[in-house]
Amino acid sequence: MKFYCLNCKQIVDEDENCCSNPHLVETKYCKICDKYYYDKDREVVNDICEYCLQEQANFNNALKYGEEQTQHLNINGFIASLLSEETINKTLVDYIKLNKLTRDELLAEQFCLEDKWDFAEFLKKGDFEDLKEKQNENI
Ligand SMILES: [Zn+2]
Ligand SMILES: [Zn+2]
Repeated sequence: MKFYCLNCKQIVDEDENCCSNPHLVETKYCKICDKYYYDKDREVVNDICEYCLQEQANFNNALKYGEEQTQHLNINGFIASLLSEETINKTLVDYIKLNKLTRDELLAEQFCLEDKWDFAEFLKKGDFEDLKEKQNENI
């Protein structure tokens, strides 16, 4: 745990003598950029800072996040009997890429950041998968 000094505006350890009149308040840690922040400088939601949340709220992550955030729609029953869910999803992704809808980063951002806590949870899961992959490479 690190602290922010309201007086000299430094991030310090509890026993660190940062200035002559330290006034320490708690900080929160961001798992992506590996830094501590004072809430009023930068908000940290569920272990991810608002800057990293914003940066990760892009189109590719929206597609991955959307695989978890599924929605139920009524589709043509005949098509549903012809094609698997996987094929329908893949076809729609191809359609979006073909029509260059991927350029609409603003919609991707809105989708990802609608529930920041939940999106942070998704990003944290991704980190764990990356770690596992690295471990397997070393074996
Ligand atoms: Zn200080
Ligand atoms: Zn961060």
